[in-house]
Amino acid sequence: MTNHIKSKATEFLKEFVLSGYQIGSDVLELLMSKENPENLIKTIIEKANELPKSPLVITKEFLTSIEPSTKGKMRSIGTEMFKKDFEIAAPVIKRDTILANDQEITLIDAKEVEAEIVIIKTPNIIKTAVKNPIEHLANLFHSRYVKLKKLLLKRSDTQNYVPIAELHSSDEWEDFHIIGMLVSRRETKKGGYSLEIDDPTGTLQVIVPRNEENLVHKTERLLDDQVICIHGTTRNKMFLVKDILLPEIPTTHSWKGAPIPICAALISDLHIGSMKFLDRAFEQFISWLKGEVGGRKEKTLGRSVKYLLIAGDLVEGIGIFPNQEKELLIKDIYQQYKEVSKFLEQIPQHIEIIIIPGNHDATRQALPQPPIPKEFAEELYEMPNVQVLGSPTYVSIHNVKVLLDHGRSLDDVVESIPTVATESPDKAMVELLKARHLAPRWGGKTTLAHESNDFLVIEDVPDIFHAGHTHTNGVTMYRGVTVVNSGAFQAQTNYQKKLNINPTPGIVPIINLHTKKVTEINFN
Ligand code: FE
Ligand code: ZN
Repeated sequence: MTNHIKSKATEFLKEFVLSGYQIGSDVLELLMSKENPENLIKTIIEKANELPKSPLVITKEFLTSIEPSTKGKMRSIGTEMFKKDFEIAAPVIKRDTILANDQEITLIDAKEVEAEIVIIKTPNIIKTAVKNPIEHLANLFHSRYVKLKKLLLKRSDTQNYVPIAELHSSDEWEDFHIIGMLVSRRETKKGGYSLEIDDPTGTLQVIVPRNEENLVHKTERLLDDQVICIHGTTRNKMFLVKDILLPEIPTTHSWKGAPIPICAALISDLHIGSMKFLDRAFEQFISWLKGEVGGRKEKTLGRSVKYLLIAGDLVEGIGIFPNQEKELLIKDIYQQYKEVSKFLEQIPQHIEIIIIPGNHDATRQALPQPPIPKEFAEELYEMPNVQVLGSPTYVSIHNVKVLLDHGRSLDDVVESIPTVATESPDKAMVELLKARHLAPRWGGKTTLAHESNDFLVIEDVPDIFHAGHTHTNGVTMYRGVTVVNSGAFQAQTNYQKKLNINPTPGIVPIINLHTKKVTEINFN
């Protein structure tokens, strides 16, 4: 199953895991590129052990942070910095999208309604130091394969698949179906593609002919390590692809909606602690939730918000990327979370707040991410209307099933599929839905935890799929699933500027859980 993971990886992983750390795939790559990585490994482990708070995962960013130049003193700045006077301008409804129901329905005041929350699934256990990481990785991939094969077999056109080891090729053309993981994709000299497919019984090279335009297009949208079904034809040991079938969202999916017209507001990527955090915009958002600002329409909408879903990156964190400290307003992670709770405490208590972590938060970086630990965010845990959960989380609010994920792997999707630009994160999220997996690619920017159960398979079709991370806002409807990337409350950082990432901060999508209508308000 894992024959594309080089044996060299075993040794490195062992070294770290025996020391109690997990290792980011980027670090693994870096180490594997070195001639004699032993000394570097030793230094990393020593430095990590020295820290008062040892990191759970050794990432490339951690390597940068232990460099002497960035080891500067921590300075804590109080909250006064945020208390600026400003005039409250009326929030502007940016656009109403996805009108599921044209008639105006009078919204209900959320104060009058009891919350209905069922947490369906959330990761909450931190497992570190596994004995044999390679074995765990193999188990993880096997678990992924088994779950996704089950989903693929729900399609009517995948039924007669055969294990790779049982494939026959005679001198007559014959159709076949196989279900496997995409190990590699190479462009052939002739302009088509050669795919390497792996299942528990063996590996097979299949060819995507150049002249099949549709098929070439499908191939170019594939993600490494994704589980797919290949419908092909074979003769004399030549295997040609006729079609690529994905687990997909069934065309019959449609969400019922809440019985009453109340709303959920979706936000993410606040990055509190960063100088670029848009405190004014965020305070205006809170005033709007209180029903204090805007015209009649905006006020009614604000008062109808019963749920606030936050998809990670509450704080800016520390040592996440090179030179980050230059843009930090609060240089202490505990203070950053204190500041978060100061903001969230201003939100009316009848609004239920659900929080999951992102890659800037103080929890394990490898996916799935456990909740932000209590020791970092005690105030949040104490708030009666706040639930601190892991990423990804499935939660039902008023009978509407929401899949909340930070969206870490969207970077990998955008990198793998050039046509899905960062500017349309909702389109990248759709690719994850089609793959029925939140982070198909192993060895990219996303680190996967060495666990034997793949928690990231999208086993149940959500009604709403909410992610953040890209800092660009986007909303779409895909096969009955409302797909929302909630953007950010952080203006462009110098790091993003260098990478040519243009955030669209301050825009909040609000979903009417009864009509499915999405309204976006710009608070910036
Ligand atoms: Fe972020
Ligand atoms: Zn992020």
